[in-house]
This record gives sequence, C-alpha cells and structure tokens, in this order.
Amino acid sequence: MTDQLQRFLFDDFQIRGEIAKAHETFQQCIDNHNYPEAVANIIGELLIATSLLTATLKFKGKIAVQIQGDGPLSMAVINANQDLQVRGTARYEGNTEGLSFLELIGKGTLMLTISPEDGEPYQGIVALEKESLAACLEDYFIQSEQLATKISLFANSQTSPVQAAGLLIQTLPASSESHEEDFAHVCALAGTIKAKEIYTLKNEDLLFRLYHQENVRLFKLQPISFKCGCSQERCLSSLATLAPGEITEILEEQESIDMRCEYCATTYSFREQDLQILLTPDNPQH
Ligand SMILES: [Zn+2]
Repeated sequence: MTDQLQRFLFDDFQIRGEIAKAHETFQQCIDNHNYPEAVANIIGELLIATSLLTATLKFKGKIAVQIQGDGPLSMAVINANQDLQVRGTARYEGNTEGLSFLELIGKGTLMLTISPEDGEPYQGIVALEKESLAACLEDYFIQSEQLATKISLFANSQTSPVQAAGLLIQTLPASSESHEEDFAHVCALAGTIKAKEIYTLKNEDLLFRLYHQENVRLFKLQPISFKCGCSQERCLSSLATLAPGEITEILEEQESIDMRCEYCATTYSFREQDLQILLTPDNPQH
C-alpha cells in the first residue's frame, strides 16, 4: 500500500500529527486531463491537504476543499469521504507557466464544505492571501478552529511516477506551561523535512529522522484511493432535468449526447434509443 495516511501523537506533548502520501492517487486525479505543470501540482497539494483534513473529522460524511480565484486557475477542488476515497478537478485558462501560487489564483478564497451523513452541512471560508496553499490552510485553522497548525505540502507532477505527500502538526487543547515552546520546537523540526525524504522514507524512519529524541506513537495506516462516483445512470438522471423537446432537438443535430465527467474524464454517450425513457410522455422521472 503506497497511498496512505497515518496519524501520530507525541506522548509527552499535547501535539498530534499526520503524514499522507498519495503518488498513485495523484496520478489518477490528473490522468487524461493534460493539466499544465503548475495546475497539476496544485491538484497534488490539494489532494494531500484534503486527505490531512479529512483525517481530522470524527464522523462519516463528505468533504470538499475548493480554491477559487480570478487568476488563470479559476477553480480547483478535491472531494473526499471518511474512507479517504478522493477525486478532483480544476479549471484554468491561459498561460500558467512559471506562475507563483498567488499569481495562479489571483484574488481568491479557500472553501471547505463538510457534509456529515447525519447532520447539517457546514462551510468554512478563508481568503487566499499567503504565498502557498499550506500557509493558507494554516490560516484557516487559526481563523475557524483557533488551532495552531503547521502544514507542509509537496507535489511534483513532472517525475515518473508523480509524487505527492504532506505533513500536518497540530496543537491539542493544551494547558501545560511549556506548550508554546514545545509546539514551536516540533514545528521547527517539521520545517526541516525535504521533499525527497517524505516521498521515499517509511513513516517510522521519517519520524525518527525528525523526532528521535521524542516519544512518538504511530496509529494504524489508512489507505488513500481514487474513486469517482460517476455512472451511466447518474448522467441519465441529470439529462432527465431537460425537457423531452430539448433532448429531441439536440438529437436532431447530432447522433448522440456525450457527457464527460470532469473528474475522471470518462465519456458517457447516449443515443436516441438509450434516451427513450426520457422521451416518452409518461416518463416517471419528470
Ligand atoms: Zn467520473
């Protein structure tokens, strides 16, 4: 299992952490999209960020982490569920080469939508004002949850295979006098991590390299995987929102109605005979 998330805890501090790696899932998110390098790398970082955030949730449900802006990258989103099954997509326009994170996004926001299986969905929004996605997420945790957090995100869409990984360090509600100092110490060491180390080292070895003087307890590995929920049936039910007349009109101009999933790039093709159920007047879906 190469794509996984692992939580850990510092026994002597009120600090928790998570490591995520998702090389294959990253590849599956960008397959068949031809994203330019800068856009693909943001998807990789967002994929890791979403996995790290999902593991902080304590209920069943869905999470979407979306960035939106007025720059060349107008939208990027990763959806995930509590089992760390993810999918993602992005929209961009024009030249993105060599642009920094803020140049790519322009004036933008980071939006988290959390939809618990039992309960009301809620949304958190923070302005994208820092120079990296990781720093913007740290802002989000301070502003919306009052939790000091350090996040490191790494993604490289140009290597073969592609690579994506990240680390989260977060304070637990703490009271000890030395807590601030302990947290600064743990974060400073986390800041020394190199992309190559997090991509290739086993989690135990990585944590030993960073924190061999501390007592770190690792929890069980959780797999991260790609899963798109699209299907022929779902496409058909979204076509059912069109009036039969509109469908007939389209089919007069073209042989079939093609719908491409913007997440996994699967194309679903519907010819007249596939759409009969929508064209009959007593169609129960209307
Ligand atoms: Zn799909």
